[in-house]
Amino acid sequence: MAFINSSRFLGFTGGRGEPLNRAIPVIEPKLCTGCGECVSACEAHAIEVRGEKAIIDYERCSMLNGRECRACVDICPREAITVIE
Ligand code: SF4
Ligand code: SF4
Repeated sequence: MAFINSSRFLGFTGGRGEPLNRAIPVIEPKLCTGCGECVSACEAHAIEVRGEKAIIDYERCSMLNGRECRACVDICPREAITVIE
């Protein structure tokens, strides 16, 4: 699994050896309260809360798999999730 948080994703290659070239949702840990709203909203079951911070499993995330989804971005009451192109 690939759990990435914050802008550290920029070095993420998706485990395939090549840089990702697509939009991805990124969680800012400083803003996240661990409320779990995004976990419930994610139909791909790509988010979990650990240590009161949400983290995304990019291998599951629909956005990285070419499907349109912003459910986590739209539901977060703290605006802690943004999409980075
Ligand atoms: S909805 Fe926002 S604040 Fe709540 S767990 Fe998810 S990222 Fe954190
Ligand atoms: S973009 Fe969609 S699939 Fe990806 S983590 Fe957010 S809610 Fe889940």
